[in-house]
Amino acid sequence: MSAVKYTRPIDGHVHLRWLEHSIPFALFAFQDAATVGYKALVEQVNTDPPLISLDMIRARKAYIDLVKKQARAEDILHKSYIGMTDDEGQVKTALRAVIDNPDLIAGDKTFYVHSTANMGLLRNRIWVRNWAIKREMAYRKVSTSHLEDENTFDKSNPFNPKNPMTHSLYQNEKAELVQTERQIRLARDLEFEGIFVAHHVSSPDTIDFLYQEKDNMPFQIIIESTPHHILLNTDDYKIHGNRVKINPPLRSPESQKGVLERGLEGKIDIIGTDHAPHPLERKDSVNPSSGIPVIPIFPFLAQTLLKKGMSKGQLKKITFDTPNKIFFSGELEAEEVEVEYNPGLWDKYGYNPFSRRDGTLRLPQVRV
Ligand SMILES: [Zn+2]
Repeated sequence: MSAVKYTRPIDGHVHLRWLEHSIPFALFAFQDAATVGYKALVEQVNTDPPLISLDMIRARKAYIDLVKKQARAEDILHKSYIGMTDDEGQVKTALRAVIDNPDLIAGDKTFYVHSTANMGLLRNRIWVRNWAIKREMAYRKVSTSHLEDENTFDKSNPFNPKNPMTHSLYQNEKAELVQTERQIRLARDLEFEGIFVAHHVSSPDTIDFLYQEKDNMPFQIIIESTPHHILLNTDDYKIHGNRVKINPPLRSPESQKGVLERGLEGKIDIIGTDHAPHPLERKDSVNPSSGIPVIPIFPFLAQTLLKKGMSKGQLKKITFDTPNKIFFSGELEAEEVEVEYNPGLWDKYGYNPFSRRDGTLRLPQVRV
């Protein structure tokens, strides 16, 4: 594969890990981000300890500065989100911190279902209260969300680690759409004035719904999709098993194609990698963690989208211009890089989740 030229991207969705693993995942992430040319990373909140207070985010910043130095990635900018909890006082203080500290915090984050670290807010009363608090505070910042509805998961298909496909059957596409419709409605009814970011939208139906609602809502809607929901599907379980278990799960080949097509039609606003590595022994355990490493795929993704007809301008818009506007107030300068995709970057994670797509998959030789 030849080198590809693109504007240094901004990734509004990475899980950099903290004290939860002995593997230096944050260091790996900045090394990979430097190699493929990232300009900025915005970090998710479900670290250990979680990023739910300004103090924790300041401590985190100091740590990340050291990591960046070690990774020789000092020029990559870093911000965090701040996590929303059940606690009313925490929510108010956290939202105030977003307003007062735009250099540190890119917005707030709500999990509407449990994912890694069980930060899910699962009660209607809390959803309503948190949107109401945003109204009372005239909050005009970015509100990001993990949108799945636990009650819509298919109870007749519980996850069975021996059959990775069950994860996609259980956490089905409908569950994403149901929670998305609900939260858009609540945000509208409670007069939200900020920017509604739907993270990692994985279903064509959810993209269609959000795209259509853009004109109907008094607030801005941003549709984020991931490289894996654009490039991978349930066929990848046959190769990687639970190592490609993620939330929301991989979808059918048809749905994956639908997400890619909508991307090419200009219906996806931003690409966020949802880079979320775990130690291999956890991925291979009877209770496999959800999340995969993703950052190294960027040059391959860029090349694939350009080959399939996306214009250079559109690629720049979804990977730099729009994330720059919403997460960095448009303050970052566009810079071109030329990068060759390097599958060797996956080695430190122990596997390459994209091996079926990038041509590196080596099937075992069959002796006859
Ligand atoms: Zn995520």
